[in-house]
Amino acid sequence: MQTKKYTVGIDVGGTKTAYGLFDAEKKLIGRSRHFSDAKLPPEAFFDQIIENIRVLCTEAGVVESELAGVGVGMPSFVRAPDGYIIRTANLPLIRDFPAPEYLTRALGGTTVAVGNDMHAGALAEHRYGAGRGAENMLYCLMSTGISSGIIIGGRLFRGSYGFSGESGHMIVTPGEGPECGCGNRGCVSAYASASRIPVHIRKWIEDGEKTSLTEPFSTVQIAEGYNRGDKLAVRAVEQMTRYMAVWLFNLYITLNISCFVFGGGLLNMDLPLLKLVREKFDAFDKGGMPVSFKTAELGEDFGIIGAAELLKA
Ligand SMILES: [Zn+2]
Repeated sequence: MQTKKYTVGIDVGGTKTAYGLFDAEKKLIGRSRHFSDAKLPPEAFFDQIIENIRVLCTEAGVVESELAGVGVGMPSFVRAPDGYIIRTANLPLIRDFPAPEYLTRALGGTTVAVGNDMHAGALAEHRYGAGRGAENMLYCLMSTGISSGIIIGGRLFRGSYGFSGESGHMIVTPGEGPECGCGNRGCVSAYASASRIPVHIRKWIEDGEKTSLTEPFSTVQIAEGYNRGDKLAVRAVEQMTRYMAVWLFNLYITLNISCFVFGGGLLNMDLPLLKLVREKFDAFDKGGMPVSFKTAELGEDFGIIGAAELLKA
């Protein structure tokens, strides 16, 4: 009799979709990736995923009936516990879709778990990365977007509707500041995410501020400007790190979770980002209990590893 010992983890992003095939010992034995096609409706989008799962398995010499399960991490609001996709920020056509049901049917009854990508990231870092052994942990993403995944009592905390951890939409200046993708003004991600930095800089230039920075105000340019003391670059970094500290302190004081694990591209900026955030966080924190800031350990693979972990969440 064939044993079902392989799992597939799929990390769907706004721009690319990555696949990992894992054996029973959790060893990565195959991988692939392609661009995420935002023009595809849900059926065609997931048909492409099914096709790629088949190719991945064939290339590794694995037959479909040996698959123990397929986990998919989506940048979406995903309903718990059934994995129904409510809506997806960067892939607007992927909404109102029963993805697990659709995939299970196409894959001959294989177990499928669909969940939020930050939940997947939190599981990965908690089980195999920087959060190993922590009873409670917050996985925090500092990237084009700002978000988090919450582990409480050693388990993923999903919340009532499955979108726990969407803390980038924590409102910090109600009705003020740039509009966020969620439709509100004043979300913390409108200040702390990389994608919003240029919006602020353009506004300051319009207001008459002088700078040596030029379009498109990338994070590389901002870091260079900061390091040579450009006033607007310093202001942008100060604003970003201040709101990151507000975000993290509000999470800390609400959940009292003392283990923060950070991932995301902003950590690669040529700046002491976490140090700047930590100084501001410490200024808010009057309690003085130990709080650890750790860097994620799993690198780029956290998405596929975490997606496979959704099967056991
Ligand atoms: Zn928002």
